[in-house]
Amino acid sequence: MVIIGAGQAGLQIAECLRRGGHAGRLTLLGEEPWPPYQRPPLSKKYLAGDLADERVFCRPLAQLAKQEIEFRANTRVVAIDRTARAVVLASGERLAYTGLAIATGARPRALPVAGAEHPAVCYLRGLQDAQGLQAKLVRAQQVVVIGGGFIGLEVAATAREAGKTVSVIEGADRLMARAVAPGISSYFAQTHRARGVDLRFGCQVSGLVPVAAGGLRVELSDGGVLHADLVVAGVGALPNQELAAQAGLACANGIVVDEYARTNDPLIVAAGDCTWHVNRRYPAPLRLESVQNAVDQAKIAALSLLGVAQPYQDLPWFWSDQYDVKLQIAGLSLAHDTTVVRGGSEAFSVFYFAAGALVGVDSINRPADHMLARKLLSAGRAVTPAQAVDLAFDLKALLQDPTG
Ligand SMILES: Cc1cc2nc3c(=O)[nH]c(=O)nc-3n(C[C@H](O)[C@H](O)[C@H](O)COP(=O)(O)OP(=O)(O)OC[C@H]3O[C@@H](n4cnc5c(N)ncnc54)[C@H](O)[C@@H]3O)c2cc1C
Repeated sequence: MVIIGAGQAGLQIAECLRRGGHAGRLTLLGEEPWPPYQRPPLSKKYLAGDLADERVFCRPLAQLAKQEIEFRANTRVVAIDRTARAVVLASGERLAYTGLAIATGARPRALPVAGAEHPAVCYLRGLQDAQGLQAKLVRAQQVVVIGGGFIGLEVAATAREAGKTVSVIEGADRLMARAVAPGISSYFAQTHRARGVDLRFGCQVSGLVPVAAGGLRVELSDGGVLHADLVVAGVGALPNQELAAQAGLACANGIVVDEYARTNDPLIVAAGDCTWHVNRRYPAPLRLESVQNAVDQAKIAALSLLGVAQPYQDLPWFWSDQYDVKLQIAGLSLAHDTTVVRGGSEAFSVFYFAAGALVGVDSINRPADHMLARKLLSAGRAVTPAQAVDLAFDLKALLQDPTG
C-alpha cells in the first residue's frame, strides 16, 4: 500500500491500515522534511513562540517504525501511473502499489494582486511557512492581514497579542462569512476591535507597492492606504488535486470520491482537504478543511483499501482560538431558517435549525455545549428551539434512549 501525503489524513490512513490488518508493505510519502504534524497550532501557539517543533509532530518517528510504516520525508510524488500501478517520485524512482491513497491536502490561494511576490507578503500552510512568518513577525511593527477567515483572524490575534499594530482587510461585510452566522461574526468583530485591531470590511487590496524605507504601501479598493512591514494573506485554499487529475481521476473542487472515499479507480482512495466528497448526512458533495474531516474520512478510506465498505457519515466539527475566545462549531449550519442563543454575552451557543431540525451549533467559550451538540447532532436527536434557549432545560436528558 502506498500513501501520498504525510499529513493528518495520510498518517491516519497508514495507522488504520495497520490496525485493520494489512500485513504487507506500507509506505507513507511526504514532500515536507518533517514527520506528520498538526497544522492548527501554526496560526496559534506555535506562531506565538509558545510551542516547540516536537510538540506539533503527531507521533515520534519511532512509533511509525514500530508499526512498520515506511515513512519517507522529502519525497515528492510527481505522477501516478495507473496502467503500471506505480507512483513516480521526483527522483525518478517508481514504487508499485496494490492499493493507493491520495492525501495531498491543500495549498494557500495566491493573492491576485500586483506586488504580491514581495518577501514581506506571507502565506501560512506548513511548518516552514510558520517558521518564516514567526521570524518576520518578531521584526514587524505594522501587520496587515488580508482575509477575515479563520487563519487570518488567528494570525491577527497572535500578532496583536505580540503588541503589533494590526489591520484586517475583508472583502465581505463580515468575518468568517463562509462558515458562521452573522451573530458570531459580529461577536468576533467586537472582540478584535476591543483588542485594537483595525477591521476594514467590503474592500480589497488593489496594490502592494514597495516603499524605499522598507515595507509595503497597501492600497485598498476603497481608496484607503496602509503601511505594512508584514502582509499575511489568508484568502482561502486550493485542493492539491493535480496529481489525481493528471492520472485521469475525476476532479471537481477536489478529488471526487464517493461515500466510501473511493475515487473512480477501484484501487485508489483519497481523504482530507484534497477531496470533493460525499457525506451521507448531506445532500450535496463537500470539500472541508478540518482535522475532523481529515481523520474521520481517512478511516473510511483505509477501510475501503482493506475491502470493507463503511459509508462516511461523521458529523463535521471545527474550532478556532482567537485571544482567550474559543469558537467550536458542530455540524454545518449555513442553510438554516431559525437561530436561538443559549447562554450569556461572553459564553454562549447559537443553535441553528432548518425546517424544525437542529443542523448545527456554534459555541463560544461553552465547551460543554459543543460536546453535547456533537452527540445530539450525531445521534439525530430532536431538540426544539424552546429547549435550546432554556438554560434550566437539561439538554443531556435528550441523549437518553427514548425507548428506555
Ligand atoms: C494555519 C492553519 C490552522 C488551522 N487550524 C485548524 C483548526 O483550528 N481546526 C481544524 O479543524 N483545522 C484547522 N486547520 C486545517 C487542518 O489543519 C487541515 O484540514 C488538515 O491538516 C488537513 O489534513 P490533510 O492530511 O488533508 O492535509 P495536510 O495536512 O495539508 O497534508 C497533506 C500533505 O501532503 C503533502 N503533499 C502534497 N502533495 C504531495 C506530493 N505530490 N508528494 C508528496 N507529498 C505531498 C503536503 O506537503 C502535506 O504535507 C488549520 C490549517 C492551517 C494551515
